[in-house]
Amino acid sequence: MNRPDKTEITRLLSLTDKAEIAALHRRAYEIKTSTIGKVVHFRGIVEISNICTKNCFYCGIRRDNANVQRYQMQRDEIITACLWAHEQGYGSVVLQSGERQDDTFSDFITSILQEVRQRSGGELGFTLSLGEQSPETYQRWFEAGAHRYLLRIETSNPDLYRKLHPADHDYQARLDCLKALKGIGYQTGTGVMIGLPHQEISHLADDVIFFIDQDVDMIGMGPFIPHQDTPFADVLPDFKEEAALELALKMIAVCRILMPDINIASTTALQALNPTGREMGLLAGGNIIMPNITDVKYRSAYQLYDGKPCLDENASLCRNCLERRISAIGETIGYRQWGDSPHFAGRRSKIH
Ligand code: SAH
Ligand code: SF4
Repeated sequence: MNRPDKTEITRLLSLTDKAEIAALHRRAYEIKTSTIGKVVHFRGIVEISNICTKNCFYCGIRRDNANVQRYQMQRDEIITACLWAHEQGYGSVVLQSGERQDDTFSDFITSILQEVRQRSGGELGFTLSLGEQSPETYQRWFEAGAHRYLLRIETSNPDLYRKLHPADHDYQARLDCLKALKGIGYQTGTGVMIGLPHQEISHLADDVIFFIDQDVDMIGMGPFIPHQDTPFADVLPDFKEEAALELALKMIAVCRILMPDINIASTTALQALNPTGREMGLLAGGNIIMPNITDVKYRSAYQLYDGKPCLDENASLCRNCLERRISAIGETIGYRQWGDSPHFAGRRSKIH
């Protein structure tokens, strides 16, 4: 694809007229249905631990937040959740946690991947969202059965990145991780937060161009939502849920228009801003939903932002509720499929 015009992307992201925004969503949705179909794929997400060695200024489970009750799910609990997802016909699961780079953690993940692969007959797909790791660790997890990795760049602008993180969090290291993941053969996803402090529309336009230049297979992005126990609690005194949602939906739509064949998640943070936020994300071009399958007893301790929805809804209720919501907008759910992006298949055929 040709490099798109930044001026045009900026213009689309700056739309304020409701009719023009609706037309943008419609265009994106048409592109989504003609390339991917009227189908949504599920990735059951298990929030395996909120222990984090990092201190990102925006995040509710950052290391220095002493108000969080830290937990680490047991190996058996994680395996049970994954196998439950498999029985439900979810094609794949996501394991997400705070960042730990020690060997104990790396071994722990490896052994879970191996066991679930064996017990699901290799059918259940795995996405990992476990932060920055060494290339060796990524390789081990890949060999143990993970095939997708989600690592948001958070912002593609190095100066803005520095304002969002302590000095020892390194933009270049994150970029190197994305490169390593792709080199190993993962379907690689990245994303940004939308509406961050100090972020301008032109940063977001650059983010879209970054996704295209990185040739990503999937995007997981969502609105920034302040968390009360972080340094960014009060950094946006004018934070308005409706405006944050509108901007996030415009980003999804623009990404779908420019990258027709990738997977784009309609993230839970959208629902934190509006009860039907995730359906809106689908109608703006998203095609992936990540139902939370974490045991309810852990959910409230995994709050990256304030107002996380479904804290007291168990995994079966989540499934039923989502099924209803998705059929209400005329889409079907692709059960028992990995739901790889057509883009990844195309990229692979170019490599081999
Ligand atoms: N530790 C891993 C994965 C868990 S965090 C990592 O950082 O990659 C997953 C994502 O949550 C982050 O990439 C970030 O984009 C998002 N997040 C954190 N705090 C947030 C907030 N206040 N609002 C919205 N998203 C947030
Ligand atoms: Fe840790 Fe990820 Fe939160 Fe940063 S965003 S503090 S790495 S969980």
